Amino acid sequence: MLNIVLFGPPGAGKGTQSAKLIEKYGLIHLSTGDIFRANIKGGTELGNLAKSFIDKGQLVPDEVTIGMLAGEVNKNPGAKGFIFDGFPRTQAQAKALDELLASKSTAISMMLALEVEEEELRKRLLLRGKDSGRADDQNPEVIQNRINVYNGETMPVKDFYTAQGKYKGINGIGEIESIFTNLCQAIEA
Ligand code: ADP
Repeated sequence: MLNIVLFGPPGAGKGTQSAKLIEKYGLIHLSTGDIFRANIKGGTELGNLAKSFIDKGQLVPDEVTIGMLAGEVNKNPGAKGFIFDGFPRTQAQAKALDELLASKSTAISMMLALEVEEEELRKRLLLRGKDSGRADDQNPEVIQNRINVYNGETMPVKDFYTAQGKYKGINGIGEIESIFTNLCQAIEA
């Protein structure tokens, strides 16, 4: 299996590049942010819980997120592989993902990290907020909180995969097509 963790701060372009990667490699796309938003839209219990955290730019608790993600992996038994987008965001999530995949006799192949500096992220997120309808992209304080949570809680996930020799950093600034080409090269290297 080809199991990729697509990593990077909010606004790095994970969703855009995931869409291209799943098409090219025939992978299942699991975006925890998308799944939470679908649940919020559907008014589910999980959605209501997630909304209270997402609206403030905080992480949804690990227990909830890990349980949800495991359920989604289990729904796709014959998958050629997965792109995990927005997950893992904490070291506890990374550990849980390793255990889940090991129980299925597979593993993460690599972490591809889109690297973009903060000033550019703030610009992109505010721009996206204008037409995405995402409330968490429209409030500068919520955006800053998400960036801070990323720097504090999510950055250590990079060390987790670096220690396994699986980290590959990719410049996330430039044309969408050239970033995609660089991601494909990293996958096939
Ligand atoms: P972003 O553009 O900020 O990367 P996402 O769509 O990936 O946005 O996630 C939106 C929000 O959903 C996050 O700010 C967070 O509150 C919640 N969320 C998404 N993935 C996770 C996760 N793995 N763990 C905890 N919370 C998450």
